[in-house]
Amino acid sequence: MDVSYILNHLGEEREEYYGAVAPPVFQTSNFCFKTVAEMREKLKKELETPFYSRGFNPTVSVLRKKVAALEMAEDALVFSSGSAAVAAAIMSVVKAGDHVVCVEKPYSWTNNLLTKYLSRYGVILTFEMQDIAGVATLAKSKNIFTIIDNSYCSPINQQPITMGIDMVIHSATKYLNGHSDVVAGVVCGTKERIMKMMAEEYMTIGGIISAQDAALILRGLRTLELRVNRSTESTKKIVAFLENHPKIKQINYPFLSTNSQLHLAKKQMKQGGALFSIVLNVEKTEQVEKFCDGLKRFLMATSWGGYESLIFPICALGASKSFENPLPWNLVRLYIGLEEADLLIEDLKQALGSI
Ligand SMILES: *Cc1c(COP(=O)(O)O)cnc(C)c1O
Repeated sequence: MDVSYILNHLGEEREEYYGAVAPPVFQTSNFCFKTVAEMREKLKKELETPFYSRGFNPTVSVLRKKVAALEMAEDALVFSSGSAAVAAAIMSVVKAGDHVVCVEKPYSWTNNLLTKYLSRYGVILTFEMQDIAGVATLAKSKNIFTIIDNSYCSPINQQPITMGIDMVIHSATKYLNGHSDVVAGVVCGTKERIMKMMAEEYMTIGGIISAQDAALILRGLRTLELRVNRSTESTKKIVAFLENHPKIKQINYPFLSTNSQLHLAKKQMKQGGALFSIVLNVEKTEQVEKFCDGLKRFLMATSWGGYESLIFPICALGASKSFENPLPWNLVRLYIGLEEADLLIEDLKQALGSI
């Protein structure tokens, strides 16, 4: 199935809604029935048919179909945040006493979930970029269930299910929605796994997405491929500019020509995406601050994946007590949005020139 078909047509039941091109927002908590017999029948299938919006909602259903197809999965669930998706996915497969093997520096709140919240599970830490197909093969041979957070790549740049991974998670807040106006998360997997998760974690904990937010993500998804490709093209130019700058000590980007894992990046990712970090070649925090404060085209903010370019300096984490910070003080994360690459390069040039 091609990406345009998925984004423009898959899951849309237009004849059901007067031929509306955009799916209606089913802003309703419950659905009504004419007879007891009909209600009884619908209740039997409340996870697959409109009954109550904590379970099935038609707007959310269109989104589930599209996201699942983008990830080459059979089904998907959409949650109220990426963190809710991560928690539901992990909790759907672990039981007391199990071991979770995880990358050494996962997303900060995933780290919190594993090390603080689910601390009764032993956590073994491993290396950085993974050989996804290799890990999947090894895990299958030992009957280990695998889950990947694919937010960084988006399904446009990497499809882990095709490499043998069992379950794929996204913070839909990032690329999938792409407009910095919704917080949401997604879990993709086999029909069997997803239906089990729906009957357990999803319906029980109830961290669902509203129809309104689902409609916003559907609108964002229409341009997913365009946005990811545009941001990636700009990122290539910007990384090339930064690579040769004397004020840059290091760049962390999978498709950097000097990355020791470049061959692995090329094997499993189509392209590098638009999120990377730089380590500034400076002596003092004040210089990092001057660089960041001096940027005019970048917004200083957390999150990423939207239309706007962003910076997040690690030295801003100083006062945060919610998680330990393993990163260097002079590291700055950059996300490249949809602006003209040349304008962003000009801006970086003047801010680096000032320190
Ligand atoms: C943002 C993010 C999350 C958490 O998603 P929320 O939607 O903010 O809850 C998880 N994983 C990665 C890689 C992220 O960037």
